[in-house]
Amino acid sequence: MIQDKTEDLKAARDEGSSRAVGVSAAPITTPLKAAIRGGCPRCGQGRLFQGFLKVRPACEACGLDFTRIQTGDGPATFIMQIAGFIVGFSALFVEIRFHPPMWVHLIVWLPLVIALSLALMRPGRGLMIGLQYRNQR
Ligand SMILES: [Zn+2]
Repeated sequence: MIQDKTEDLKAARDEGSSRAVGVSAAPITTPLKAAIRGGCPRCGQGRLFQGFLKVRPACEACGLDFTRIQTGDGPATFIMQIAGFIVGFSALFVEIRFHPPMWVHLIVWLPLVIALSLALMRPGRGLMIGLQYRNQR
């Protein structure tokens, strides 16, 4: 569970609304936007990760505590299913339609499933963290 003070959230929302009148303040972001940018789920300005998948202790911009976020293997589970679905059905389609030799499947689909899994891992974990932040109150 992520602890967040109500006044902090209100202050962050006020900063977000002040952007519309020309003040350069942090906008409030959606979990999906924050996940794509690898940003903080509250302010969208601070970075969420300090390595490839290691989550920072706190947001450098708004101070949101990330240490209480527990995503476990949730992102990896979804990523494996999504990448497996895309690559599995693509391989099946190519096999049925073009009948390529087996080595073509090996050099196309194995690197693709690895690259797809790695590419989706960070946004997937960011989305999971963002949704957990938004929905656990
Ligand atoms: Zn933040």
